Amino acid sequence: MFENLKWKLVERPILPIGNTYLDAFVFLVFFGLLFFAGIALKNKRGIGLRPFVQAVTFVFFIFIVHRCFCALRGTIFSFQDIGKNDLNVFNGLFILVPLIAFTLLFGRIFCAWLCPLGFMQEVFFRVPFIKRIILDPAPRIKRLRLLLLVAIFFAAVFLLLEFRPKTFFFVQNIASFWGLATIILAGLFVLNPGADLKLKKLRYFLLFIWLFIIFLGIFVTDPWCALYGNEIDYSSLVGLFAVLATAAIVPMAWCRYLCPLGSSLSLMAKFFQIKIKVKKDSVISKIEARQICYVQALEEKALDKSSCLFCKRCVEAGASEIEEL
Ligand code: SF4
Ligand code: SF4
Repeated sequence: MFENLKWKLVERPILPIGNTYLDAFVFLVFFGLLFFAGIALKNKRGIGLRPFVQAVTFVFFIFIVHRCFCALRGTIFSFQDIGKNDLNVFNGLFILVPLIAFTLLFGRIFCAWLCPLGFMQEVFFRVPFIKRIILDPAPRIKRLRLLLLVAIFFAAVFLLLEFRPKTFFFVQNIASFWGLATIILAGLFVLNPGADLKLKKLRYFLLFIWLFIIFLGIFVTDPWCALYGNEIDYSSLVGLFAVLATAAIVPMAWCRYLCPLGSSLSLMAKFFQIKIKVKKDSVISKIEARQICYVQALEEKALDKSSCLFCKRCVEAGASEIEEL
């Protein structure tokens, strides 16, 4: 239906590498944004720059250049070309290597400062009216949230069936299934908010399944593929719908429970050279912690390092501090 829709301003490489489709310009901008975000994270007044970096990344990668953030699938697939097509291998590592290097240096700055999908989910939490509903513990609001999630689930299933591919239903619909899983996990969270930590642990199991599917040689798509790659893949669009709609009920549910890239980055948390930790004299309450932290990584006296996105909002609120190793 929308197959011919094009929204990228630049379709060709701006700084082609050796007359190929590889664009060094994208790499330089990505590198520069990560560097800028890292410095801003460490700077006391840098927090004000976060929306700016998020907006620049959003516009640049979604509307300007034709470059996908496929840091995992592309890399795994490109390994098959080692010794055969070095350019393809380089292409696969193009995003992943700087991403890992900067994550080790500055924590998950990609998530909180650059990722367009994280940015889009976060927006709901910034709208005071939606935020009030999201955080309201009243039983009738809880029922309303559950009802909305059920409606989103059925809408996603309807879209999935409506736009299902003519061939391989499962293989070509992985992004949709991951979107549906996001809604289900968000529903479990609404039913029992105390299970958040346990649900978060599930992301490693889901990452394993996701990687296993890729190792089988299946071309897995993600909810962000359509946006970044300018390709109308219906599975990816259904996944995107599910992820964004769910984020209006449970903040950043995709980032908390499923995102394969975020889960991979969180596995490195022990090795980050910068840590965010709750101040010893912090007097923050549970309710205040919920209002500050999108992903519920912040508690009264502790911080879940593997879930923290390094947005620095809790540091700004005086609850936490940055520690450099
Ligand atoms: S967890 Fe995934 S979607 Fe969320 S901000 Fe990080 S990379 Fe982006
Ligand atoms: S713990 Fe603090 S820095 Fe980490 S995601 Fe929550 S508010 Fe942001």
